[in-house]
Amino acid sequence: MDLTSFGAGAQYIAGRLTEGTGTEPFQVVNPADGSVVQQVTLASTADVDTAVAAARAALPEWAAATPGARSAALLRLAGILADRAEEFARVETAQTGKPIKLSTEFDVPGTIDNTAFFAGAARNLEGKAAGEYSGDHTSYVRREAIGVVGSIAPWNYPLQMAAWKILPAVAAGNTIVLKPAELTPLTSLMFAQACTDAGIPDGVVNVLTGAGRTAGERLVSHPDVAMVSFTGSTPVGKRVAQLATDTVKRTHLELGGKAPFVVFDDADLDAAVHGAVAASLINSGQDCTAATRAYVQRPLYDAFVAGVAELFAAIRLGDPLNPQTDLGPLVSYTHRDRVAGFVERARGYGANVVTGGQAPAKGHDGTDLSLGAYYRPTLITGVAQDSEVVQGEIFGPVLVALPFDSDDEGLRLANDTPYGLAASAWTRDIHRSLRATREIAAGCVWVNDHIPILSEMPHGGYKSSGYGKDMSQYSLDEYTQVKHVMFDTTAVARKDWHRTIFGDR
Ligand code: NAD
Repeated sequence: MDLTSFGAGAQYIAGRLTEGTGTEPFQVVNPADGSVVQQVTLASTADVDTAVAAARAALPEWAAATPGARSAALLRLAGILADRAEEFARVETAQTGKPIKLSTEFDVPGTIDNTAFFAGAARNLEGKAAGEYSGDHTSYVRREAIGVVGSIAPWNYPLQMAAWKILPAVAAGNTIVLKPAELTPLTSLMFAQACTDAGIPDGVVNVLTGAGRTAGERLVSHPDVAMVSFTGSTPVGKRVAQLATDTVKRTHLELGGKAPFVVFDDADLDAAVHGAVAASLINSGQDCTAATRAYVQRPLYDAFVAGVAELFAAIRLGDPLNPQTDLGPLVSYTHRDRVAGFVERARGYGANVVTGGQAPAKGHDGTDLSLGAYYRPTLITGVAQDSEVVQGEIFGPVLVALPFDSDDEGLRLANDTPYGLAASAWTRDIHRSLRATREIAAGCVWVNDHIPILSEMPHGGYKSSGYGKDMSQYSLDEYTQVKHVMFDTTAVARKDWHRTIFGDR
């Protein structure tokens, strides 16, 4: 992989790529075949301090820039991303193993659309209308930038996660230091470079390639970081929230998911079967909103299981660069073994592995898949609601299907995990769908679909899936603070309320 088009080094600080002062080498590996995509050196804690200082130095000018100026820069960024779309898709696929059709049709266009959205949103930062609420004062509300944002992102959608973190932060006038997952830093670095090319001043967007325990923890606890925005697993999110407490930082946590997929007995079976396959396998199931638990009302259950099993078995695993490939490898060998571990343990407690449950040997295109971190689409039945595969976040191409009888039972099971990020209900009955959308405790509930996201609509969790919203105008609320400004309108020296001190004197 030739990334020399934008220089050497894996730390993007103050508008340029540098080697940093770290000493720990790290290889960004293509999980399709184990080849090294890029050799990097992980950021030291001193590099974090340098990046935060750069972000702090850039803050006054950027926070004072007009919304129009910030918007214009983001519009230029959208254009640059569109010009470089093919390169972004190629690098994203190389570092994650995701199929090129997913990078090309979802990750990159989604990022460009997000950028265009925040270019518009930057000009729509509103406070409440002014008013004379006491009769003696005029009040208004200012919406202001928070300061330096420290962001930490996961490896599943590296480019989109960088965009979701950077765009609302800078649209609202903050500056940012983003630490992508060390497995997948490359498109975040390219995104930062594109920000500079778009005219966003040096230091506004900084990206550090570093380990969570060192660079990540330093960033989250840094005294000059005013807000922490984290996307990742729930256990690490809890640690991040604890570290942020000491300096009373605002935290924004987008955490794990275990989305239910509830099929009522009047649903369109073909739509539900195809929906479940696509929504559980997107990005090899490494999607926080992926369908993971299909609850199917008894009359449709057997046909649903048979339909999903048949489509799972026909999925084309292979070289991610082949446009015909449906499913690439998982992000790493370690992660593939973790996913396989869930399935092995499930076999141990009596699960029925209907299809999958192993690594494939050959791809649809004849590729030898034994070198890659591949795993077959896996359908599991016959497990208890409290079993590990139903409750735990597997984050792989594994779907569990369980039957239910009454609507009450289906909705109760859907809510019965600690997570609450996303869910879907499949029915043609308006009352059932209204009830499901009301009663399922999740940040997003789809009806007769599962996965689509929109720049205009908020994304974020309930329960242990975290709090705070990404995308949409709501995310600008996360990255701004509200100030009440109050003017006396009476021009009298002795105010009425002074009586609480002076009495009648
Ligand atoms: P992870 O929690 O292991 O790592 C996420 C990030 O945190 C990485 O950059 C990592 O280096 C960093 N990190 C690790 N330990 C840290 C520490 N002690 N202090 C500071 N930073 C630390 O998650 P992952 O395996 O990269 O990604 C998968 C997880 O992300 C899943 O749980 C998935 O559901 C979640 N996710 C959530 C959303 C959402 O919007 N809610 C979106 C995508 C992914």
